[in-house]
Amino acid sequence: MNQPKHAAVVGSGLVGSLWTTFLAQRGYRVDVFERRGDSRRAGYQGGRSINLALSDRGWRALEAVGVAEAVRREAIPMYRRVMHAKDGSLSTQPYGKEGQAIWSVSRGGINMALMTEAEKHPNVSIHFEHNTDLVDADQGRIQWTAPDSSGQGQFDAVFSTDGANSGIRQALQREGAMEWGEQVIEHGYKELVIPAGPNGSSLIEREALHIWPRASYMLIGLPNPDGSFTMTLFFPNEGPVSFASLADPAVAAVFFAEHFADAYAMMPDFEAQWAHYPSSKLSIVRSWPWSKGKVVLFGDATHAIVPFYGQGMNSGFEDCFELNRMMDALGEEPGTIFPAFEAERKPNADAIAELALLNFIEMRDLTGQPEFLLRKKIESVLHSEQPKRWIPLYTQVTFSQIPYSVALECGQKMDRVFAEVMQWPDLASTWNQPETLQKIWEVAAKEGI
Ligand SMILES: Cc1cc2nc3c(=O)[nH]c(=O)nc-3n(C[C@H](O)[C@H](O)[C@H](O)COP(=O)(O)OP(=O)(O)OC[C@H]3O[C@@H](n4cnc5c(N)ncnc54)[C@H](O)[C@@H]3O)c2cc1C
Repeated sequence: MNQPKHAAVVGSGLVGSLWTTFLAQRGYRVDVFERRGDSRRAGYQGGRSINLALSDRGWRALEAVGVAEAVRREAIPMYRRVMHAKDGSLSTQPYGKEGQAIWSVSRGGINMALMTEAEKHPNVSIHFEHNTDLVDADQGRIQWTAPDSSGQGQFDAVFSTDGANSGIRQALQREGAMEWGEQVIEHGYKELVIPAGPNGSSLIEREALHIWPRASYMLIGLPNPDGSFTMTLFFPNEGPVSFASLADPAVAAVFFAEHFADAYAMMPDFEAQWAHYPSSKLSIVRSWPWSKGKVVLFGDATHAIVPFYGQGMNSGFEDCFELNRMMDALGEEPGTIFPAFEAERKPNADAIAELALLNFIEMRDLTGQPEFLLRKKIESVLHSEQPKRWIPLYTQVTFSQIPYSVALECGQKMDRVFAEVMQWPDLASTWNQPETLQKIWEVAAKEGI
């Protein structure tokens, strides 16, 4: 009988713990090396965003290995955006068609659920507190250091999912096998909390993602199962209005009371929170190639992106789905499958990196503007008239499996259509008339839509 293939997974974060289940179900013996302790015993120490938006690409990957139900139990659907203007007035916009939602999940919760699912396979062992490094990519050899031991091992394949600061990526760069760069953007983020109301109720609409768009910065809120909301302020790191200028909690409180008055009123311990929670940088990692010999990298290890499309984890989960699908088609030989995988995924990783940056402008600035809401209304009618011909960009990215690179290109065409249409006089009152919609279709046709 053939021996099962033996794989190492470096990093048991979101992507690594899901990929472990894919490998286990392919029949691999899997050793997982995770630098941190077991969060199920020690409490989650992720240190990054507390909750995340999970959407269709992520769900598809979770469903493929039968772990979606375990995740869904703790997930909260968010059917629409609720925008909070400075004067406290609210406007809303559905994310998709009736019943379509993005889902708020706890980072620690989903990570722990995925590790538990992976460990249900007898061929999986997770080694916590094992800081791991690359020794020889062609041989599939890695080494690890644990609190009271160290060791080395050779594997048929090494899957590096060790996140945005990947040590394996840095080792490959040192030997000239990989190039990568990190782009730190001007905005960082800080998390705050709106506590739950009485009896686990929520103080703001629960099944929604809340946005306080303020042109050059924004606050967002995602719901938690206990009724609280995790708030994230995306804000310039330096400058006259920045984390640096609001370092003093009392100064930050005055700023919040003016610019986010309704949210501020729901955070009685604002100053203590401001002092307690750190601000963190946001960056984009681009790298190439993603593999050498028996080692392949994916997830944030090769393509960390800014969080404004809620797609970092989703794209990492899609990496798992696609790698598995390609292994079915092309086999598991690293020399064949890894180059094919990186060639297919890299353009999509680049596209979602660009889309995520563009969506920051949309969220922090455009969502607050009437023209934006008008365009969304028109797009929704175009989509319902010809669902296959006009698919709004947000829908393509969030509620479809259309490759990100195709979505980006199509989004640029749709922007050109609306650059023309929004100039039409009286559009706000005539857009829903059959003649106007017909004219929009004619402009779309010129763009090949
Ligand atoms: C503020 C913020 C909000 C976000 N919101 C969303 C969202 O709404 N939706 C979404 O889809 N994505 C979101 N993301 C992105 C998402 O968090 C990442 O894309 C995702 O965590 C990537 O998963 P990963 O497994 O590749 O990396 P990670 O989750 O970072 O996991 C890497 C793992 O590797 C381990 N490790 C590191 N080095 C070593 C080593 N040398 N040896 C062993 N183990 C090691 C780490 O301890 C960690 O457990 C957000 C990110 C941020 C910062």
